[in-house]
Amino acid sequence: DSKLSIRGVSRTFEGTRGQKTQALLPIDFEVRENDFVTILGPSGCGKSTLLRIVAGLDFPTQGKVLLDGQLVDGPGADRGMVFQSYTLFPWLTVAQNIRFGLRERGMPEAQQKERSDYFIAKVGLRGFEHHFPKQLSGGMQQRTAIARALANDPKILLLDEPFGALDNQTRVLMQELLLGIWESAQKTVLFVTHDIDEAIFMANRVAVFSARPGRIKSEIAVDFDH
Ligand code: ADP
Ligand code: ADP
Repeated sequence: DSKLSIRGVSRTFEGTRGQKTQALLPIDFEVRENDFVTILGPSGCGKSTLLRIVAGLDFPTQGKVLLDGQLVDGPGADRGMVFQSYTLFPWLTVAQNIRFGLRERGMPEAQQKERSDYFIAKVGLRGFEHHFPKQLSGGMQQRTAIARALANDPKILLLDEPFGALDNQTRVLMQELLLGIWESAQKTVLFVTHDIDEAIFMANRVAVFSARPGRIKSEIAVDFDH
């Protein structure tokens, strides 16, 4: 049974002068529970568009997305998101960023603290709880974003080039961190990248997009141990 079903999803953007860009051709794709799937393809092939549709931040021109059998028709806390450009709330500390969604849900303070402490430790941010995003390196900000996404216990983690802006050494550290979390936390992950090494290193399944307009050209099962 699928965790995520992408059924006949296409997306056409209309420009201000009526010109049309077909960003995605109809896509059928299934993600199983606990899969780590990378979507690999060149810039502009529609990877972000597909991820944004799954996130509920954009809508398909045709087709639909089901998460645990439920129609996706907007953003929701059941999808944890991490983007390339840091999207932390700049006016909140690391701990406050991580607790944001829990607070929104009305979780009791003590439980919020326990949960955020757990994920702060998990992503290696102990000692940085009270720092603001601008006081942190890019890698640290992405650690915070990952912790914030996980704290809500989402059904799926959606990441769009999350390590694309980091230097090589930090990127490898972050890849290993995310893999470790995936292996221990039993999460379903959809990860967008244009970096073939990253795609193969991270995933147990790689969906390769063709160049524009986006369609899935082939799939690779990666079955070596990390
Ligand atoms: P990728 O993530 O693979 O780099 P995108 O999904 O960002 O590709 O973009 C796919 C295509 O759709 C590109 O041609 C891009 O310019 C276009 N596109 C994406 N978002 C919009 C938008 N909001 N309006 C118009 N065109 C868009
Ligand atoms: P990436 O290449 O990392 O996917 P882009 O720079 O293509 O990112 O897109 C960043 C944002 O701009 C996205 O929200 C996308 O939907 C939007 N966008 C991309 N291309 C266009 C476009 N031609 N017109 C309007 N918005 C666009």
